[in-house]
Order: sequence, then C-alpha cells, then structure tokens
Amino acid sequence: MKIIADTHTHTLMSTHAYSTLIENINEAKKKGLKFIAVTDHTGTMPGSPDNTYFTCMWSGIPDEYEGVYILRGCETNIIDENGNVDVPDGVMDSLEWVIASIHSYLTKPFDFDTHTKIWTNIAKNPHIDVIGHCGEERFSFDYEKVIPLFAEYGKIVEINASSFKTRPTCKDNCMKIARLCTKHNVPLVVSSDAHFASDVGNFDLAIKNLTEAGIPESSILNTDAKRFAEYLTKKTGRQFNL
Ligand SMILES: [Zn+2]
Ligand SMILES: [Zn+2]
Repeated sequence: MKIIADTHTHTLMSTHAYSTLIENINEAKKKGLKFIAVTDHTGTMPGSPDNTYFTCMWSGIPDEYEGVYILRGCETNIIDENGNVDVPDGVMDSLEWVIASIHSYLTKPFDFDTHTKIWTNIAKNPHIDVIGHCGEERFSFDYEKVIPLFAEYGKIVEINASSFKTRPTCKDNCMKIARLCTKHNVPLVVSSDAHFASDVGNFDLAIKNLTEAGIPESSILNTDAKRFAEYLTKKTGRQFNL
C-alpha cells in the first residue's frame, strides 16, 4: 500500500511541534508524497497560533512547493459535550482540510452517549472535513450509529499512524472504525500526525494494521494521487496537474 498524501502534519506554529513547513515539505518530497496538509492546532491548545495564521494561509502559502501540493488546513479541538469546536466557522471555511479531534489534554472523557452525540454533531457540521484520531477507548462512541452519518454528511475518517504509538488502546477500535467506514463507503485517509519533519510520511503502523485487518486500498482515499486530487477538486474547485 502506497500513501501519496500526508493529511495531518504540524509545524513550529503549533509550538509543541519542532519543524518548519519547508522542512516538512522537503521530507514529503524525499518520501515521494504528492500532497501535504498543514494542520496546526487551533485556539484552545496552549501555544496555538491565532486565527489570522489560518485565514492568511491562502495568500501566505503557495499552492505547490518543490513539486508537493500544499493543502491549507487546521486541526481544531472539540471543546464540549455538544461537539462545539474552538475556531469560528469563517476560519474553517477559509481552509480546505479541517480536521476535528478530541484531545484528552483539553477535554476529559464524558460517557458513551455523550461521545455519540459529539460525533453526531460533528458529522452534521458542514465546516468540518475530517474526523481526527477517533478510536481512543476512553472516548468510544456508537460507531454503528455514527459512521453512517459520516457517510451521509460527506466526512472523511482519518487513520492516524502516530495514534498506534501514543494512544495504544486505540488499535481494535480503529480497525472496527475502518471496517465500518469500508462498509458504509466513508473514505479513509492515512496520516502521520507528524510533530517533527522526519515523521512526515511515516505511516508504517497504520499501513500494517489496515493491511492485517483486510481493509482494501480502494477504501483509502490517499492511496491514489488522481483519486485524491479528484476528491479535492470536487470539494474545493482547486485544480491539480498530476
Ligand atoms: Zn499536537
Ligand atoms: Zn490531534
């Protein structure tokens, strides 16, 4: 399985990440990736950049650098039991790759039904594109109920390679989620969640686990550059020359 886009990366601007955007792009190029999404943390994560950083990405970052297409994005935090996030809608709408994640550092676990309500509301939130690392056991939710909603509302579900190291309880849940996404035609993406340049394009654990679980490549949007580009063009109107 070959991944052609890293859809979740952090730069120095997240302030608990340690590489520049250019260092990340150079690493993406070195590993043969065609796309990189820059998805720094927003608002309530300590040390995050303010909204101007994100709204200026269109003018501040080129479409492509060193042959790697750059997707302007963010990783927003889910901050309460209703699935509200910590960035204004207008900021999210200025971006093309908006991930919503729960971080235990900021949000403590509620209960199963509340987590189900949170992800139901995220599914219905038109400003959010991608469901971030949602397999953690202490934040588990009703996958059977919510994943069809991800399909209905056009969400992408991320399989986050670094989670298999930093959130080790997530493996079984992540594979359950991946199987249900395949069943309900919810596109998956594999991402690194790199906080240091050398981790960009490091998908090993995700690929291993998805392969062992028998998830077909056709379920994973970023295994094919043309398919990934077509998806983005349909969503944002942006054109790619592949
Ligand atoms: Zn982070
Ligand atoms: Zn995260």
